[in-house]
Amino acid sequence: MKKSSKVRLIIMAHPDDPELACGGSIAKWAEQDKVYYIIVSSGEMGTWGKNVSPLKVADKREEEAREAARFLGVKKIIFLRHSDGEVGTIKTFIIEIAVLISSLKPHTIVTHDPWRRQFHPDHRATGLAVIDAIMIARDLHFYPFLQEIGLTPHRAEELLLTPTDKPTLVNDISTTFTKKMQAIRIHKSQLEQLPNWESRIKKMAETQGKISGFKFGEGFYQMLI
Ligand SMILES: [Zn+2]
Repeated sequence: MKKSSKVRLIIMAHPDDPELACGGSIAKWAEQDKVYYIIVSSGEMGTWGKNVSPLKVADKREEEAREAARFLGVKKIIFLRHSDGEVGTIKTFIIEIAVLISSLKPHTIVTHDPWRRQFHPDHRATGLAVIDAIMIARDLHFYPFLQEIGLTPHRAEELLLTPTDKPTLVNDISTTFTKKMQAIRIHKSQLEQLPNWESRIKKMAETQGKISGFKFGEGFYQMLI
């Protein structure tokens, strides 16, 4: 019998967010499922270099994201190329996500927890837009044109919010923790801006793992759709 293969759709604001948030889970899912990425902004503001062109930063970061995704076994990566820092202002954003959900038909959708205490406005905006888009993809009467272009309603099974202040589900990433760290290291252009990232990520994985008795874990707030 063929192994069941689910589509796991990771929708994150910036090129390094998937690996930082849940690279260990992605590596595990990719062993048997189809994992797809949607990267909302190519992160052109992600540099401390005063004379660096944002366009070059975006190119570099897309390249790193492609390499990290390939390394983890991700099947597809879609860049929406919205402006870094201004994701919440793009009027078509929710519809774009809804169209992609209807078309890619994921079992699981993973995004930022918009209710977590955090600094980056793009993380909050992405989390909220994904939640709204799930409703539109599920109940197509909100936007009847989607049916006119051949899309059928799609109800994903679960939404996983991460990182989160209140994990309700912890994945055991003890066997893929090293792979997660290697994948983060591929985002070379960002490492300088992530001081002490190795010890911080390790501590987080230990703390979250402890909740469910694993050596290393990644926590999610799970919502069933
Ligand atoms: Zn980010």
